[in-house]
Amino acid sequence: MVKSYDVLVVGAGPAGAAAAAVLAGQGLRVGLIDRAEHPRPKLCGGLLTAKSVEALGRIFGLGLAELAKGGGLFHQTPQYLFLHQGRELLRGTAAEPFRFVDRPAFDALLTSVAVARGAEYLPGRIVEQCDAATGLVRLRGGEELCGRFVIGADGANSVTRRALGSDISGGYDRAEWRRNLAAAIEVELPVGQGPGQFPRPVLVPELHVGSPSAGYGWVFPGPNGPKVGICGLRRGKRDGRDFGAIFLEFLRLLGVAEPEGVALHGHPLPYGNALTRPASGRLLLAGDAGGFVEPLFGEGIFYALATGAHAASGVLCGLKNGQAAAAVEYGRLLARTVRPELVWSNRLRWLLFWAMQNIGAGPIRGFVQSSPAALAEMVHGRRSFKLLQRKTWEWGQGVGE
Ligand SMILES: Cc1cc2nc3c(=O)[nH]c(=O)nc-3n(C[C@H](O)[C@H](O)[C@H](O)COP(=O)(O)OP(=O)(O)OC[C@H]3O[C@@H](n4cnc5c(N)ncnc54)[C@H](O)[C@@H]3O)c2cc1C
Repeated sequence: MVKSYDVLVVGAGPAGAAAAAVLAGQGLRVGLIDRAEHPRPKLCGGLLTAKSVEALGRIFGLGLAELAKGGGLFHQTPQYLFLHQGRELLRGTAAEPFRFVDRPAFDALLTSVAVARGAEYLPGRIVEQCDAATGLVRLRGGEELCGRFVIGADGANSVTRRALGSDISGGYDRAEWRRNLAAAIEVELPVGQGPGQFPRPVLVPELHVGSPSAGYGWVFPGPNGPKVGICGLRRGKRDGRDFGAIFLEFLRLLGVAEPEGVALHGHPLPYGNALTRPASGRLLLAGDAGGFVEPLFGEGIFYALATGAHAASGVLCGLKNGQAAAAVEYGRLLARTVRPELVWSNRLRWLLFWAMQNIGAGPIRGFVQSSPAALAEMVHGRRSFKLLQRKTWEWGQGVGE
């Protein structure tokens, strides 16, 4: 017999945990499926902006004390560095701190809140197929589960996304999706002067631009040593080549000796490919699965939390007003909050990338130095990517409405 749920959530990352926490909090029967079991590894810089912290409070009722105690929060600082090909452009201090979490502990805490509210956590189950029309989900091994709705929050390599179909009119354009899928590589290095070690401790996050040309690099504090990464679109002559080679160049620029011996880890990052129609039938996609990552700085945790909660609100509306209402409500909430930010950040990034490739560091220097406070406020969510306007809406709008 097929086991039935009000809602099946596929993926217990930030998007899936947010959706499950909101829905279970409303007394619904929620199944939260994941191929792995927490704490599981996740390649991520772990940077939390102020808007993410705000969203965690609204969705999960979690504050900084809980994050520090069991959610992997290990560092915070208001300082940041902006560099172009190794040269410092800006040393800034934001009004609010940037916070850093260890993703395995962080994701485990979020899932534990969903479970405490009544969601059934189903780890170690790999979803192989999903039917958007019926809400049927098939697991590896043949078991089938059914949801009145399914929230696909299974990350950048989403299996549930395939259920949208490839028909551009009703589904999504796979070629376009791939064009805007960034490659990302990140390693955590021990501090030291030896081969493959990072030459200095890192307490202030660094953002590096200039290589890759349609992307950026970072050096963040990590729980066990500095985290160094790059992310970018594999376009053009230079970035179309081996991305690993670009990363090794970056490590050399940072003073890492003999970086060839470092084991590299990669993961795709949606980078400008938020789906215009992330819902079909009984299926709603959230987080990386729907391409909801901010396409300039690559921030994804906040957008996963926000879209997970919005998808849950869509489902609540669909359960009340009929299936079709879910997609409509989800689309409405996205259009009010997340979507305009992604559109404007995409415009800004193409302007900056184009200027860097064709003019040099001047425009980006002008951009970051002209108003460092406003820039930090934009990243934290106090200002919009739309011309740095002060935002007039709340990130949590629509959560559990
Ligand atoms: C190198 C790198 C660095 C990053 N750094 C930052 C950062 O510093 N700050 C930031 O805000 N964002 C960062 N991001 C982006 C951020 O990690 C993602 O946007 C975020 O994790 C998306 O959350 P999610 O819940 O949508 O997906 P995920 O966190 O990827 O979770 C998806 C879940 O689905 C499960 N799953 C996948 N397939 C299946 C299946 N078939 N069946 C069952 N379960 C499945 C997985 O096990 C996983 O638990 C970074 C990304 C990368 C690649």
